Amino acid sequence: LEQALRRAISDDIISPHYQPIVSLQDGNLLGFEALARWIDPELGFVSPAKFVPLAEERGIIAQLTELLLYKAAKTAAEWPEDLFLSFNLSSAQLVDPNTAREILKIIKRAGLPPSRLEIEVTETAMMSDPETAERVIAELHDAGVRVSMDDFGTGQSSLGRLRDLKLDKVKIDRAFVMALSNDRPSQHIVRAILEMCAGLDLTVVAEGIEEIDQAENLKRYGCHAGQGYLFGKPQDALRTMSYIREFRRIAKSDREAKIA
Ligand code: C2E
Ligand code: MG
Ligand code: MG
Repeated sequence: LEQALRRAISDDIISPHYQPIVSLQDGNLLGFEALARWIDPELGFVSPAKFVPLAEERGIIAQLTELLLYKAAKTAAEWPEDLFLSFNLSSAQLVDPNTAREILKIIKRAGLPPSRLEIEVTETAMMSDPETAERVIAELHDAGVRVSMDDFGTGQSSLGRLRDLKLDKVKIDRAFVMALSNDRPSQHIVRAILEMCAGLDLTVVAEGIEEIDQAENLKRYGCHAGQGYLFGKPQDALRTMSYIREFRRIAKSDREAKIA
């Protein structure tokens, strides 16, 4: 697999796909999360949950990230200016003090301003060297990049860290969203996360929304934004552009219908 991965990187066949993130409050499109896709001529689809950790382990994650972030930033630079790009940072990069500088260099080359970039980090990724991670996050934040805590509630959650880090956003893990309709404990956990984040001035995105009731409950609880198959699956750059056009066209005709 490592050999195939190295080949895929040098043949440039790994690309980001983009999944929409929408406002649960007013239905607007806010941005997209980039998710790496590798369809190998021999192996077929290989999940990023498999090849990202492998790339970390074998020391090729920096190369892979550079390739993916450059492509994603270049694509996002073509979107309407109010849409952001959210990009997952791997744990290996949070222990490298040069990471923030590298990221800023790559997006500059791609023509995407820092204010349109969000970086997703996980609690588990912060564990091995919290001080460096904190510094990388602060540097990104100070350059105008927003930082969000991904998969919140599943890792080694430390509420103290939530207070100390310069974070902008929290993404509630799919596991809680999935259980919302029939599991009281999950409802309480989600509401508690939302209340805490409101007090800490953090925006909240719920991940893995597949059903309309999940979206409605989350909206009622005051959750800002959502992401999941209900709004759209991850799609390549070309289809994403059509998605944006279609989304805007429908929003515009809704507005016109309201006025008329
Ligand atoms: P993540 O960042 O938490 O991404 C969300 C995952 O949930 C994605 O899986 C996405 O396709 C999936 N998903 C989104 N909506 C739904 C839904 O409604 N239902 C279900 N069942 N699933 C949904 P994916 O693309 O397989 O990625 C898995 C993980 O791999 C990501 O989790 C992220 O941690 C990592 N990853 C993906 N791309 C990259 C990358 O470019 N760099 C790094 N470092 N990690 C990446
Ligand atoms: Mg993510
Ligand atoms: Mg996640």
